[in-house]
Amino acid sequence: MTSAIVMGGGLAGLLTAKALTGHVDSVTVIEGDHYPDTPSPRRGLPQGYQNHMLMGGGADAIEALLPGTLDRLQAAGAHRRGMGDGLLMLSSEGWYRRFAGAPYVIACTRPLLDHVVRAQALTDPRLTVVTDTKVLGLTGDAHRATGVECEDADGTPRTIEADFVVDATGRRSKAPQWLAALGVPQVEEKTVDAGLGYAGRKYRAPEGAGADFPGILIQAEPNTGEPGRGAALMPQENGEWIVALMGTRGAAPPNDEDGFNAYARGLRHPIVAELIERATPAGPIRSARALANRRRFYEKLPLPEGFLVVGDAVAVLSPNYATGMSAAAKAAVALRDALAAGGLRAGLGREVQAEIAEIIAAPWQSAVVNDSGFPGVESDVQVRGLAFQHRIAARMSRIAAENPAVANAFYSIASLAARQKEAMGLPVLLAALRGAKKRPLSAQEAIAQFPELGGLLDRAPAHSGSEAGRRLVTE
Ligand SMILES: Cc1cc2nc3c(=O)[nH]c(=O)nc-3n(C[C@H](O)[C@H](O)[C@H](O)COP(=O)(O)OP(=O)(O)OC[C@H]3O[C@@H](n4cnc5c(N)ncnc54)[C@H](O)[C@@H]3O)c2cc1C
Repeated sequence: MTSAIVMGGGLAGLLTAKALTGHVDSVTVIEGDHYPDTPSPRRGLPQGYQNHMLMGGGADAIEALLPGTLDRLQAAGAHRRGMGDGLLMLSSEGWYRRFAGAPYVIACTRPLLDHVVRAQALTDPRLTVVTDTKVLGLTGDAHRATGVECEDADGTPRTIEADFVVDATGRRSKAPQWLAALGVPQVEEKTVDAGLGYAGRKYRAPEGAGADFPGILIQAEPNTGEPGRGAALMPQENGEWIVALMGTRGAAPPNDEDGFNAYARGLRHPIVAELIERATPAGPIRSARALANRRRFYEKLPLPEGFLVVGDAVAVLSPNYATGMSAAAKAAVALRDALAAGGLRAGLGREVQAEIAEIIAAPWQSAVVNDSGFPGVESDVQVRGLAFQHRIAARMSRIAAENPAVANAFYSIASLAARQKEAMGLPVLLAALRGAKKRPLSAQEAIAQFPELGGLLDRAPAHSGSEAGRRLVTE
């Protein structure tokens, strides 16, 4: 009888557990929190209140592990948006033209996403979840992990043995300390902190905002010498929108009613402020801070046999780029494929840890390069040729704003649907050489590309939202 333990039953933990089923006789997920019965926020997932966009590459990976998940999500009200034709985007280089293309995102609340993934995963009878049980450490030695020490809700300590142990406890993972206690050297860690702050709020969408209402993204501009300020407005289930305001060091968005609205209005274009004036607040404004990029290089360690680290426990990627869940889902697929190729075996953990490092490399690099362009960034990563990389990124983004081949290549990479070398074919390289040819779109032209906005912006705001909002802020 072989067994595996997955520490942490969030998105990465459940997907990893599913990847293990069929290759070990029993898979047990140990989760410190209590799962809600409905798609609701929970204590162990504080980021669940904030906007979460699931990139297409991650959605495909989830679907590969848990077939039927995307249909269930859409049946529960999640929206699928083409990145080129379902998102109105103001980048640092201007408004993007609307293009059809394969890359896509899934928009819904994080609680709904987790609820559906959990329901799908737990239909597998080979997978058991033990909730309200906190992992305290690992058992074994520097050569082999043999299980975990944990504590039940009533404080009863327990040791559970396993042949394979996975850390999926997220950004607060204590794996560096747990490994050190077994005699494993300290893991190398790098942090790039642009001082990003979020403020997020749900709204009831106004009448006239149809089911195909586009997502709206205003990207924070690096390299201006000023803090970056951006916003996202995404349709969610139940006729709601979520609005995320985001700002880098020195411009964290406030969570009071007037400050929130003023921040949205002060962005490079006030479209988000104008839309929320026409919507009704459906919850308090919630902040999120401490959103630095952090990478732990476990693939460089002599990890004990039978041990693997996945999800945010390996790499916390700035939420600004919406890649954390997708990287975690792709890592679970990598584990599934490695198991399919040779089963549970010596060296499996290290082999998959190296593949996870490859999956993370591109989104990490792109987040690090972009975030290094904001003032006051605190970083222990030396980026070679940073100014040159920023110039290339800006040039490509300017071309992507007008060229469908380049835009779709960009979107494929950003959504983790393709690696750079797969996405950058000859037409893209030729377009890059030719450079931008068209005049940038005006805001009016860009917005007019989306009749799905339903003429909302032409209507007078029904109310400022302030009174309803003030009541909610003080809840
Ligand atoms: C503000 C914000 C916005 C974001 N937006 C996006 C986005 O748009 N798109 C995107 O892809 N990603 C986004 N992310 C990142 C995303 O939230 C993470 O990448 C994702 O949740 C990682 O999944 P995980 O399972 O590794 O960790 P988590 O989802 O954090 O799950 C960890 C689990 O481990 C449990 N746990 C922790 N410690 C213990 C313990 N000792 N014992 C037992 N259980 C334990 C927790 O209760 C939890 O259930 C955002 C993050 C933030 C903070």
